[in-house]
Amino acid sequence: MNKCQAATRLMSLKRDRPLTLGERAALRLHLAMCSACRECDRQFELLHHVNRRFEPPTEDRMTDDAPRH
Ligand SMILES: [Zn+2]
Repeated sequence: MNKCQAATRLMSLKRDRPLTLGERAALRLHLAMCSACRECDRQFELLHHVNRRFEPPTEDRMTDDAPRH
């Protein structure tokens, strides 16, 4: 696996779980010297924020509705 693939994998991995210190360090080090991956990380961040903003809070709503029956 080349370094850019490894970095991209870490970028998507950090959406699922917090990265370990070693993983964070490796990713930051790579982003510091690779502008392509910096841009990729920026896109990941944008997507993440958009998804969060438009995610409907369905679970909360269902819990709120339950006692009315
Ligand atoms: Zn790279």
